[in-house]
Amino acid sequence: MNLILLGPPGAGKGTQAENLAKRRGLVQLSTGDMLRAAVKAGTPVGLEASAIMEAGGLVPDEVVIKIIAERIKEPDCVNGFILDGFPRTLKQAAALDELLGFQGKKLDAVIELKVDDNALAARIENRARETIAAGGVPRSDDNAEALKKRLMAYYRETAPLIGYYFAKGKLSCVDGMAPIPEVAAQLDDVLNSGVAP
Ligand code: ADP
Repeated sequence: MNLILLGPPGAGKGTQAENLAKRRGLVQLSTGDMLRAAVKAGTPVGLEASAIMEAGGLVPDEVVIKIIAERIKEPDCVNGFILDGFPRTLKQAAALDELLGFQGKKLDAVIELKVDDNALAARIENRARETIAAGGVPRSDDNAEALKKRLMAYYRETAPLIGYYFAKGKLSCVDGMAPIPEVAAQLDDVLNSGVAP
């Protein structure tokens, strides 16, 4: 089963994707995590992405498309994957369609996590606070300034994907404002109901 989780920054895509991947034996593919790993490792991709990510912008399509193209070819993806953070633009969505077509794969469902925009800043501040409390270093883009840019990038570039996948008959929605286990249960309901064509 191949899935996409869609939603604004702070919607809970990462948390739910990780959970769902474990429950269903799928692989979680988070371009955000992959890019952060590249930044940490100081690879050429990391060097290109670092400042853009920190400011809350989008890394160029070519860069992330290449990362995903290489990743979904790996043998561990054969049982299915959950894309979290990709695609983020219509160009990326078209590239994904093409990639899946080449490999004889298909998308089973795209699930939107619907959230109240007013809750996002609080969630992100909270994530940063919890990371600090646990002795870690918060994400460099988890601050009010970068969040504003990330939200704008989301509404300008990513939100149109909701219409794109709706028109393809692939879109389902869950309530991202519900408690984490409840969101997980709603995701299971969607997948079990066979809504996915
Ligand atoms: P969030 O969903 O909370 O904004 P992510 O961890 O998914 O955070 O991504 C962090 C940053 O990584 C984004 O703000 C962006 O700069 C970059 N990024 C991740 N995925 C993509 C993508 N598919 N296209 C362009 N940039 C991306």
